[in-house]
Amino acid sequence: MKRLLLIGGGHAHLEVLDQLRRRPVHDVRITLMSPSPRQVYTGMLPGLIAGRFSLQQASIDLARLCAEVGVEWVPQACSELDLKHRTAIAENGEQFPFIWASLNTGSGPQLSIEHGEHSTFVPIKPSEYFYDAWEAFVARAAAASADLSVLVAGAGAGGTELVLAMRDRLDGAGLSKVSTTLVGSDERPLSGGFPTKLRKSMVSLLRRHKIDYIPARRVISVSEGFAQLDGGTRLPANFCALAAGASPSPWLADSGLATDNAGYVRVDRYLRSVSHDFVFAAGDVSAHPDQPGKSGVYAVRAGQALTESLYDTMGSRPLKAWKPQKRTLYLITLPAKRAMLSWGPLWASGAWAYLWKQYIDTRYMKRFPHPASNQQSSFHE
Ligand SMILES: Cc1cc2nc3c(=O)[nH]c(=O)nc-3n(C[C@H](O)[C@H](O)[C@H](O)COP(=O)(O)OP(=O)(O)OC[C@H]3O[C@@H](n4cnc5c(N)ncnc54)[C@H](O)[C@@H]3O)c2cc1C
Repeated sequence: MKRLLLIGGGHAHLEVLDQLRRRPVHDVRITLMSPSPRQVYTGMLPGLIAGRFSLQQASIDLARLCAEVGVEWVPQACSELDLKHRTAIAENGEQFPFIWASLNTGSGPQLSIEHGEHSTFVPIKPSEYFYDAWEAFVARAAAASADLSVLVAGAGAGGTELVLAMRDRLDGAGLSKVSTTLVGSDERPLSGGFPTKLRKSMVSLLRRHKIDYIPARRVISVSEGFAQLDGGTRLPANFCALAAGASPSPWLADSGLATDNAGYVRVDRYLRSVSHDFVFAAGDVSAHPDQPGKSGVYAVRAGQALTESLYDTMGSRPLKAWKPQKRTLYLITLPAKRAMLSWGPLWASGAWAYLWKQYIDTRYMKRFPHPASNQQSSFHE
């Protein structure tokens, strides 16, 4: 039987799995290869870090979803693609032959910061690992006699939302003495196309929540308890979250797939690799000719188009082109159940924006099964 191999349980593949519930495929064996039985929904990540949701509420049970829609789930990370023999090789050496493969493995942080083997330095991806490390830090801070410090490296939308969520969690846990610092390479936070007035407003908002913003600096190295910035400053950091930049896994380019300069898989308007038409890619891992940026919203939308491309390919029908929207709605969670909305040049904030975000997230999560219990992340099992 022909095999479709889905590599990575990201937001685009969740769309594929959801469609398989309604439109089952009988003559193709479908396998999902993804290391964790869960996928944290990106929209609820800030609420998870802020302690407003449990891991169970913010996660989708990938293993159960696969079982429900007749897809085999393999708890492995892919580490190599042999395109000549159409085989994916897992980290444990197991081989998975396929006729078609689809990639939705996301992106990881840019590990350009020097760091040793210690628990101070935590990249924000994988989200489950980050969540575990963060919860362990909060418990450590609650038991510590000395005041500790949290530092977030990278002040894009992800890093800024993250530091606000961390502040919210610390204040909620009675740990207002733990300091929080955000380090960004621009004069103001929210680099990456946000309106100037919104960015100015974010500077005052951070100040109001006692978050220090260090502008025009980069973290260059992290040692136990400290972060070294370019320009010579050394800051205390008992927990250093890395939210700066993003990069794809090197095995993608190593496989011979055509990639852009950063190493993301170049796809055409059908989400097909431009070099290997039996490989598809969507979400952060892909470089689409018309997609202006990377976000969970784009990954979900691309997932709908990817689903159609995969169905058409399996059914030997002509493919339909996908045109991503030029801009997407950003809803940034703020402390005290508020949110900031940004749509191109327009922006606003308030409790209503938080309710709107909650409505969108709840509606999305209703489509998928959640893990049965609030067990710890699989990264520590
Ligand atoms: C704090 C924070 C808040 C954010 N908030 C938002 C938001 O509100 N809205 C928004 O649109 N975006 C947001 N983003 C951006 C968003 O997280 C990403 O753009 C989004 O997760 C990309 O989705 P994806 O499906 O491409 O990949 P991911 O969600 O990263 O999923 C990748 C999947 O692949 C699996 N995987 C990884 N490597 C392998 C491998 N080698 N083999 C097999 N499987 C693998 C992973 O386990 C995971 O299941 C936020 C980011 C951060 C850090």
